[in-house]
Amino acid sequence: MRIAVCSDIHANLEALEAVLEDIQSIECAKLYCCGDVVGYGSSPNECCELLREHGVVTVRGNHDEAASIEGPLPADFNPIAAESIGWTRRQLTRENRAWLRSLPLLRLDRTLGITLCHAAPANPADWSYIPLPALARPSFACLETPVAFMGHSHAGAMFWIEGDGHIMMVPPCVVRIRPKERYLINVGSVGQPRDEDPRASYFVYDLADGVLGPRRVAYDLELAQRKIRAAGLPEKLAGRLELGR
Ligand code: ZN
Repeated sequence: MRIAVCSDIHANLEALEAVLEDIQSIECAKLYCCGDVVGYGSSPNECCELLREHGVVTVRGNHDEAASIEGPLPADFNPIAAESIGWTRRQLTRENRAWLRSLPLLRLDRTLGITLCHAAPANPADWSYIPLPALARPSFACLETPVAFMGHSHAGAMFWIEGDGHIMMVPPCVVRIRPKERYLINVGSVGQPRDEDPRASYFVYDLADGVLGPRRVAYDLELAQRKIRAAGLPEKLAGRLELGR
């Protein structure tokens, strides 16, 4: 069986639709999402509804949380992120707000041997990034499955811990899962990649032969940009899509 894992859709419906189509074309059984369904983009309700329609197993990201609660925003939201969260809060239907709020911070499927989390799995509520191999160690220490997926940084990366405790960090590539090692995969972003490749990013994991690797999908980026501008969201959110950063 083949599964697909994505993250950081950020209300970019055009990118999400392209990913769903691509997943169908390569016969993936199921899509999983590591959170940040909303924020930044112009289609928060459509993205929430499409994920539910497709039965996508999802965890809560920091933008999903900020958009679905009331009161002041976390201090680490920059002015543009804060403006887009304010706009998203006004757009979300009651049903979608409740759905986002109901999402768990971490999910694990012991049958498939996978964990899903938006940020570092060691302490999901802290929304920590893992920019260096050493910072992956606490997450490896608490992993209960051979493979874990995350997002949050909008740039794909792969970590694995070898039998002697050495942690490797490599850019997205195809790997064959070795039984004695554990893997932490940052799947990049569907709706707002920040690795200078504007195409939507996700990962495919073939459970039958234990092979895991990235995929990139081009989408109608100009339409997504036009919709961001028409919604009156900050111009930078439209401009950055074509730059992939
Ligand atoms: Zn994000």
